[in-house]
Amino acid sequence: MPRLVMKFGGTSVADLDRIRNVARHVKREVDAGYDVAVIVSAMSGVTNQLVAWCKDASALHDAREYDAVVATGEQVTAGLLAITLEGIGVNARSWQGWQLPILTDNVHASARIAEVNGAELIKRFEESRQVAVIAGFQGLHKDTGRITTLGRGGSDTSAVAIAAAIKAERCDIYTDVDGVYTTDPRVAPKAKRLEKVAFEEMLEMASLGAKVMQVRSIELGMNHNVRIFVRSSFVKPEDIDPKLPPPGTLICDESEIMEQQTVTGIAFSKDEAQISIRRVQDKPGVAASIFGPLADASINVDMIVQNVSADGATTDLTFTVPSSDYERARMTIEKAKDKIAYDHIDGSTDVAKVSVIGVGMRSHAGVAASAFKALSQEKINILAITTSEIKFSVLINASQTDQAVRTLHTLYGLDKA
Ligand code: ASP
Ligand code: MG
Repeated sequence: MPRLVMKFGGTSVADLDRIRNVARHVKREVDAGYDVAVIVSAMSGVTNQLVAWCKDASALHDAREYDAVVATGEQVTAGLLAITLEGIGVNARSWQGWQLPILTDNVHASARIAEVNGAELIKRFEESRQVAVIAGFQGLHKDTGRITTLGRGGSDTSAVAIAAAIKAERCDIYTDVDGVYTTDPRVAPKAKRLEKVAFEEMLEMASLGAKVMQVRSIELGMNHNVRIFVRSSFVKPEDIDPKLPPPGTLICDESEIMEQQTVTGIAFSKDEAQISIRRVQDKPGVAASIFGPLADASINVDMIVQNVSADGATTDLTFTVPSSDYERARMTIEKAKDKIAYDHIDGSTDVAKVSVIGVGMRSHAGVAASAFKALSQEKINILAITTSEIKFSVLINASQTDQAVRTLHTLYGLDKA
């Protein structure tokens, strides 16, 4: 039998009614002839509550105990779904991460999966078509025998890892949206659902603020070529016509996408801050003296622009950091003033980064140039630019974000008819 992984997030298992709906979705696939592994999140709000309790118990707590606490949310859902499945006549059992096991490193609270053993699952598929209901988000560190968790949103990564381990035909991610959109429909009402998106594009969109899936899960999907299908769990199983392809977005290898558009999507992030260091000494080693201390402070620098020096002695250097690191970044630069030698610092948190993404950019010239023109016609000033093979980003004033997103969305022909 072909194998399928189905993953349900917190809102899809928020209460018993929703869990019953999930069970009927699982039964539908079992009846269609699939051997199924289901990965579940904690019921919505539960993980937040567990995290809050840990903080409340002690602001400074052992990450190993944090993991022991927060891993429990998924345990409850897995058991409840197995009970519900049995209740509608589907052979099922629940599994905790440590029972398979899903082995991870020992970076508690954001562990990485090292190895998944799918042998027992496959054996039970073959012997009795037993559905495996697996608690997402959690794993086991082999050497210490302790429970680990994979970081917030980690059930997506559990699902993709299990799909790779059991060689599933597909990993279906059931969520509260019906797919991946060209941009956020709340900002651009003409955004449309993508039929297919390449792993690399999805990685860019996800890390730039399209919060559909945990970024790591997409990396894993790309490395193991696991086809991921994002679809809605709010559709009633009875309303799905098995003869029609269901609505959703397939995240897959580029080679599976026949008609590649140049631009696939527009992402944006308002959590950016800009820092400009004025009249820095223009001499070798200056960049190192600035970015070294920032790296030591674990501050992620994103865009960097250095002006060509006008007087040959000093220059301006602008870069961006996450807005949550803005104050810390300023302080770090101020502390290193003696070594860096500059006049003063300017900065702002009222900036946003808008990014245009598409693997088609590799083979098309002039994609960015047309954006600069369109933005200037809208009187949107560009503060900084970065480009890479399949994306370019502009930094603009935050108040113009929506306008910029809509302008670019129209420019690249992404508006729905
Ligand atoms: N329950 C965990 C969280 O809320 C993991 C997940 O849902 O993916 O982050
Ligand atoms: Mg999630």
